[in-house]
Amino acid sequence: SAHVLDGRRYAKELREALLADVRELAEHATRPGLATVVAGDSYPAHAYERRVRTLARQLGIHYVCEELPADVAEADAIAVVGKLGADPRVSGILILRPLPPQVSEAALYRALDPLKDIEAVHPVNAGLLALGRPRFVPSTPASVFHLLDRYLVESGRDPAAVYQRSNVVVVGRSANVGKPAITLGMERGATVISCDAHSYSSGLLYEHTKRADVLIVATGVAGLISAEHVKDGVIAIDVGINPVVNPNGETVRLVGDLDFSSVVTRAEAVTPVPGGVGPITDVWLLRNTVTAARRALSMAITRPLLEGLNLLTAY
Ligand code: NAD
Repeated sequence: SAHVLDGRRYAKELREALLADVRELAEHATRPGLATVVAGDSYPAHAYERRVRTLARQLGIHYVCEELPADVAEADAIAVVGKLGADPRVSGILILRPLPPQVSEAALYRALDPLKDIEAVHPVNAGLLALGRPRFVPSTPASVFHLLDRYLVESGRDPAAVYQRSNVVVVGRSANVGKPAITLGMERGATVISCDAHSYSSGLLYEHTKRADVLIVATGVAGLISAEHVKDGVIAIDVGINPVVNPNGETVRLVGDLDFSSVVTRAEAVTPVPGGVGPITDVWLLRNTVTAARRALSMAITRPLLEGLNLLTAY
C-alpha cells in the first residue's frame, strides 16, 4: 500500500528552520511582521486566521489582524490595506477570502504594496510568477511542490529527472492554488495538464487523471478522484479541505478531494487530509513573511531549499 506523506513532519522541519531565520533577523534588530485582513464572519477564514496567529506568536513574528465588518465600504477596506503597506512593523500582508460582495477582490489586491504581497495576488507578482521569476510563491502550491520535492529526494530519486519524464495533472484552476501549481510544474520541466470543472462536465476529466504520474487535486469536491481514476503508482497530492457535516449541520470531520481509502490502494504515495498539505501551507505563509523582511534588509533571500536542487530559486 502507498506511502502516506506526513505533512506535519515537513511542517515541523520548516518551522525549525524559520525560527533560526527569525533569530538571525533579530541580530539585525529586525522583527518580521504579518498582517491579515478578514472581512465579515466566514468560519474557514477565521479558523485560518487563528492558526497563523498562533504560529506567528510561536515563531516570535509580530502579528496584527484587521477585522473589518461584513458591510465595510470598499474604499475603507482599500484604506486599511494601504495603511498596512505603510506600516514599517508589517513585512507581509494576507487578505483572507471570501470578501463581502461589495468589496472587489481585484481592487483590494491592487492596493497591496507588491513587496509585502506574500501570496502573490497583486497583478505584478502574479505576472512575475507566471513568467517563472517569482517574488513570492503562494503558500499552498509552494507547499505542494515542497512535499513532492522532499518525497522524491527522500525516496532516493533526482526530482529534476523525475519531473522531466512525468505527466503532472492539476485538477482545479483557481488563482491561488491551481494556476500557480501549473506554473511550478512547468518550471520543473514536467508535462503539465490542467483540468477544471469544464473537463468534468465534458466527461474528459478522468481520461486525463488516468495519465497522471503526479496528480494534484484542488477542487473542493469531496471524493472526486477514486482508485479507478488513477494509474498504478501515481503520486497523489490532495489539496481539498471539505467538511463532512452531520444531520445537525455540525462539521464532524474534514476530507479531501481524493477518495483516500481507495486511492491509497493503487498509489505509490498519497497525502492525507488533514495532515498533508495544510500544515505546510500555514508555515509557508510565515516563511514568505520572513522572506519579505529579509528582502527589506537586503539579506540573501533564501538558502537553497535542498542542496543541489535549484528548481525555482526565488523561493
Ligand atoms: P476554488 O473554488 O477557487 O476553485 C476550484 C477549482 O476546481 C475551479 O477551477 C473549478 O473549475 C474546479 N472544479 C470544481 N469542480 C470540479 C470538478 N467536478 N471537476 C474538476 N474540477 C472542478 O477553490 P480553491 O481556492 O482552489 O480551493 C480548492 C480546495 O482546496 C478547497 O477545498 C479549499 O478548501 C482547499 N484549499 C486547501 C488549502 C490547503 O492549504 N490545504 C489551501 C487553499 C485551499
